Amino acid sequence: MDYDIIICFEIHAELNTESKLFCGCFTKPGAPPNSHVCPVCTGHPGTLPVLNRKAVEHCIRAGLAFNCKINRHARFARKNYFYPDLPKGYQISQYELPLCEDGEFEIEGDDGVPYPVGIKRIHLEEDAGKLVHSTKSFDESRYSLVDYNRSGVPLIEIVSDHTRNPIRSLSEAKRYLEKVRQVLQYIEASQCIIEEGQFRCDVNISLRPKGYEGYLERSEIKNMASFRAIMDALTYEIKRQAEIIESGGELTQETRLYDEEKGITIPMRGKEDAPDYRYFPEPDLVELEISQELINRIRAEMPELPRFKAERLVREYHISQTEASLLTKQRKVSDFFEQSFTYCKDSKKLASWIIKELFKLLNEHSVAIEDCPIAPKHFGRLIAMISQGQLTEPIGRIVLDEMFQTGKSPEIIIQEKDLKPIQQDDVLTQLVEEVIRENPSAIDKVRQGDTQPINFLIGQIMRKTGGKADPHKVRKLLSVKLLS
Ligand code: ZN
Ligand code: MN
Repeated sequence: MDYDIIICFEIHAELNTESKLFCGCFTKPGAPPNSHVCPVCTGHPGTLPVLNRKAVEHCIRAGLAFNCKINRHARFARKNYFYPDLPKGYQISQYELPLCEDGEFEIEGDDGVPYPVGIKRIHLEEDAGKLVHSTKSFDESRYSLVDYNRSGVPLIEIVSDHTRNPIRSLSEAKRYLEKVRQVLQYIEASQCIIEEGQFRCDVNISLRPKGYEGYLERSEIKNMASFRAIMDALTYEIKRQAEIIESGGELTQETRLYDEEKGITIPMRGKEDAPDYRYFPEPDLVELEISQELINRIRAEMPELPRFKAERLVREYHISQTEASLLTKQRKVSDFFEQSFTYCKDSKKLASWIIKELFKLLNEHSVAIEDCPIAPKHFGRLIAMISQGQLTEPIGRIVLDEMFQTGKSPEIIIQEKDLKPIQQDDVLTQLVEEVIRENPSAIDKVRQGDTQPINFLIGQIMRKTGGKADPHKVRKLLSVKLLS
C-alpha cells in the first residue's frame, strides 16, 4: 500500500537570555546543580513571576523570521501537570492568544521546489528542571536526582501544522530541523546547542493511504534531542504504523518514547489532550500588550536570513551556489568571508580557502568559528598574497597553519619562519641552470617538442627551495632557456 506521510514538530529552543523567564536567576548551562535557583523558579508559595522582556523580544523575532502574525494582544496560561522536575505543579506557557501564529517556513521540498511548511504557532514558556537518573536506563535506575537550574529558563515552542503544508518525508523533516536551527542561530534567539539540550523536539507522525482524505490517529514521540535519534524513531514509526494498517489493526492516538539502545518506540501514555492539562489564564501575570513600535523595531533590527544571504553572495561575489550555501550555514562564517574579502578581492580563492583549508583546521582542532584564532583581516591578506602569486599554495598552507596556532599575522610568520618567496632573478636563474645540467634526458625531450617535462623541472626547483621559489617566474625563466 502507498501512504502519505504527515509529520509535524513541536520544537523547544532555549532562548539566549542572561536570566530566566520570570526571575533574575542566571541561565548559564554547566553550573553546579541547583546553584541558580530562587524561590520563584522553585515554586515557593507566595512568590510572583516577573516577565523577562528580552525573552518576549526573542519570541517576536522568531515569529517574524517564520512569517507569523504577531498577536498584539497575548496571554499566558497555566498548564497543570505533576512531575518531579516541575516544583510548582504547573508550567507557565501560552494556550489561547500565543505571541505568534499562522506562519510559514520555506524549505526545499523533495521535488526540489521551495515548500512553505505551515507554522501553527510560536509561543513562549518556561523550561522544567532536569532529572538525572542513576543509570542510563530508566527501568534499572535506583534513584533520580533533580537539578532545578533549568527550571524557568525561557523557551520558545515552534509548532508546525499537520493540515497546512505538513512535512511529507524523512528527508524534508531533516531539512526542516536543520533550517529551523540555522535560522534561530542567525537571529540569535537561541544558540541551539544540541548537546546542552537547548534544541529538543516532540514529533507527531501519522500515515494515510494515498487518496484518503481524512486523518488516521497519530503518535507523538516525546523529548528527543539528537537528529539521528529523531530520524531513526520516525523510520521505526512509519514501519510500525504501516504494519498495523495492513494487518487491519487499529491505530490509537498515543504518546511514545524512543528507546535509543533498542531502536524502537514504546508506548508511554494514551490519548492526551488539552483538557488533561486544565489550562487556564495565568492569574499572576497581566495580559501582554505588544506595541506596533516594538514589532517595527525588531523587524528593522532583523539580520539578513540565510536564504537571502546565500543568494546575495552568489550575486555579489560570483561564487557558486554550493559555495554560498556552505558559507552561509553559520552566520559567523559568512561574516568571516565578507570581512576577509575587504583585504583580498579574490572572492573565488577566498571562498575555496575557507571551505577547504579553514574548515579543515577548525574540524581537526574542534574549534568553533566564533573561537577561530585567525582574524579575518589576516586571512584576507594571506589569500591576497597567494592570489597575487607572492606565495605558493603549499607555503600558504604552512603559513595558515601557523596563523591558526599562534594568531599572528601572515607577514610576521613569513618573516619569522623565513618563508619569504624567492623572486630574485639571479637566484632563480642559477637554480634553473642547475636543474638543466642535472636532467639532460628531460631537456632532450623538451627540445624535441614535448613540453611535459617542464612541470617536472619546476617541481625539482620547488624541492630545492622548499617550495619557496616563485612558480610563475621559474616557469618563465625555464621556457626562455629551453625554448628560445
Ligand atoms: Zn530563580
Ligand atoms: Mn512545550
